[in-house]
Parts: sequence; structure tokens; C-alpha cells
Amino acid sequence: MISKKKTIEMLDVIDEMFPDAECELVHDNPFELTIAVLLSAQCTDVLVNKVTKHLFQKYKTPWDYISVSVEELMDDIRSIGLYKNKAKNIQALCHILIDQYNGEVPKTHAELVKLPGVGQKTANVVVSVAYGIPALAVDTHVERVSKRLGICKWKDNVKQVEETLCNKIPKERWNKTHHQLIFFGRYHCVARQPKCLECPLLQDCREGRKRHKVVVS
Ligand code: SF4
Repeated sequence: MISKKKTIEMLDVIDEMFPDAECELVHDNPFELTIAVLLSAQCTDVLVNKVTKHLFQKYKTPWDYISVSVEELMDDIRSIGLYKNKAKNIQALCHILIDQYNGEVPKTHAELVKLPGVGQKTANVVVSVAYGIPALAVDTHVERVSKRLGICKWKDNVKQVEETLCNKIPKERWNKTHHQLIFFGRYHCVARQPKCLECPLLQDCREGRKRHKVVVS
């Protein structure tokens, strides 16, 4: 694995490439963000935004979501993968928000991960994006990029990737880094054909060097 110092140097390069990286899920408040992140599991942000454009007009509060049958909600999100489970989770989540939180989304990670359909990643996204609390959510892009660059070990699981990133990156950079690693993975270091030959990190990247047989200068 590369050192903390090298990690920061690489993140500085990514920072220059994607200075304006931010959450691409369209939302107006913490509740909409929570619904959007829940829907985004194994689904693209583009598709989620397409669905929530109409969904958020029809359903504005937790009470709205539980006022319809689960079948109707399923129908409204049918184009999204795992829509049946997601519809059930959304209604269960809304019941808890109403019963325990006055219809608001809680602000702590510990409370969020107890909600139906909300895992570690979703909780981290909600606290960091909605409430500005430092957190480093690890999605498929963050994990792939971190491993390719050698910031984390290949065999690390998601929890270990998050721990390593949090250890190597100053806390004040966590929120920004999360979005920048996603943009880097989504638009540059893509899964199938990463743009290694135009990558400013090629000389330092173990994956890029392996793919292109680069000799370290
Ligand atoms: Fe990704 Fe290739 Fe750049 Fe490495 S060199 S970070 S694999 S695009």
C-alpha cells in the first residue's frame, strides 16, 4: 500500500481534475436524499434522477409514502432494480421516521443505519451530504479507485477500505474526497477501460503500470 503522504499527493491531483465534484442525486432536503440514496443501490444516479423527478412531485413527506398501497409505490419506482424490496423498505422507513423522529431524518450515523434499507454507505452519504458531517462513503467507484491506486489492499472488504481511507485522509477532506473519488471512477478511471494513457497518475498507479507496462522513472 502507498503511504499517507503519497495518498494525499494523488488526491491533490484528483482534486485538480474534479474540483467541483458533488452529489449527483437530485434532492431538495435530507428526506429526499435518503430516498434517492436508498433507490440508488445497484442502480445508476441517472436512472434514479429520472424516477425521482416524478416521485418527489407525488410524494413530499413520509406521510405521503405510507398513504398509498405498497403496490402503488412499487409501480412508481418499477424501472429501478430491486424495486419491490425498495418500495417495502421505503414504507417501513417512513413509518419509523413518523413514529420516532417526527417525520424528520435523524442526523447520526448510529440512528440512520438502524433504518430499513439504510446501510453503512447510505448512512455516510446522508450525514455528509445532508448534514455536512465528515464521513467517507465507499461505493463501487471509491473501492475500485482506492485499490487500483494502491491506497488500499486488493483483498480489503468495504469496511476495511473505509477504515484505511479514513486513516490516510485528513477528516476535513473526507466529504470532498468521497465525491472526487466517485467522479474519478465514474468519468476517468472507469471499470472496464480506464483512461490510463491520459492519466496524470499513471506513473504512480500500480494498476495503470501493470496494464501498460510502464517503467517507473
Ligand atoms: Fe485508473 Fe489507469 Fe489512472 Fe491508474 S493509471 S488511476 S488505473 S486511469
